[in-house]
Amino acid sequence: MLAILHPNTELDSEAYSQTMHYLENLPGVSVRVHEVQGASQRLTEIYLLGDTKTLNKEEIEALPAVERAIRISDDYRILGRHKDDHRQSGFTYNGVEFSQNNLNIFAGLCAVDVPEHVEQMMQALEDNGEVCTRMGAYKPRTNPYSFQGHGKGCLPWVFEKAGKHGIKVIAMEITHESHIEEIDTCLEKLGRPTGVMLQIGTRNTQNFELLKAIGRQKTYPALLKRGFGITLNESLNAAEYLASEGNANVIFCLRGMKTEAGQPHRNMVDFAHVPAVKRLTRMPVCVDPSHSVGSRDRSPDGILDVMHATAQGVIAGANMVLVDFHPKPEKALVDGPQALLMKELPAYLEDIRLCHDTWKKRQAIYQTLKDSTAE
Ligand code: PEP
Ligand code: MN
Repeated sequence: MLAILHPNTELDSEAYSQTMHYLENLPGVSVRVHEVQGASQRLTEIYLLGDTKTLNKEEIEALPAVERAIRISDDYRILGRHKDDHRQSGFTYNGVEFSQNNLNIFAGLCAVDVPEHVEQMMQALEDNGEVCTRMGAYKPRTNPYSFQGHGKGCLPWVFEKAGKHGIKVIAMEITHESHIEEIDTCLEKLGRPTGVMLQIGTRNTQNFELLKAIGRQKTYPALLKRGFGITLNESLNAAEYLASEGNANVIFCLRGMKTEAGQPHRNMVDFAHVPAVKRLTRMPVCVDPSHSVGSRDRSPDGILDVMHATAQGVIAGANMVLVDFHPKPEKALVDGPQALLMKELPAYLEDIRLCHDTWKKRQAIYQTLKDSTAE
């Protein structure tokens, strides 16, 4: 059961203490408080866990601080969608809105290499009106002798350049909880010229201690990649780990599944799951066409498979695209062969906008059917 309090309920008010006193004394029930800070109001959600089957919804709703109560299923309690649950989805971070209705593009380098390439990438983004990027400083590599990323050493100049080019959010994978502090210390020292979204890679989807550490802080939102070899349910539960620790600002990223059946692509593209994740949870959904497709192969229509895969995700309602670009792919230290080129950026952005608009039009044409079946 979930009890949603009246907006902006003060935690030192009489109504709050009476409500909590009642809830905390329910036999066999434990109480977990979750704060949601929206643009104009603060919402307090109280999750009642344990033996809640016999609880009376009307009785809970009669408590002085409670606005409404919702019976929630066991799965994805905080991030999930439940019957009669009209809670908002998404959040705003560093001035950028993330929701299940809009779209943000994070084009950038798979791995930070040299300042010149980061500069060229960010300049191109600025020239095209983009305010988000991806930049890998900590790289999880299959081979221990491969380049592991520049780590904290590159953070100062990457963040400074981002600030210079008006980049507001950088998706940056972290592989250890100590990286949160390294990023935070660096940003703080520089006066926070940009923002960071902490990315959890597919190899760490079920690294529960890392998830808990990221979930315990609320400064940075999280981008959770789907695990490449586990079920969708298991990956969505991993996202719920973040929320259960207190951070519900989570975006879920589809990045393909590892199977021979995916060939000739690097992974089996799984973007048909975009609407499924939006139906099951309130998370904005990201697609990563670079790590799904993994090549610059082109079909006879002249369009790269990476671009086709992007279009498939976006036309199905994806809310974010995470994609590898590089000014000189032959010099890239990681994943050069799948990177898109600077000269391809404007057309790619136009293609994505076209697909996002088409998704909106698709919703409109099916809306009339939805209305008539509801009657
Ligand atoms: C990445 O985005 O750089 C990456 C390593 O992706 P994944 O975790 O999906 O393999
Ligand atoms: Mn990569």
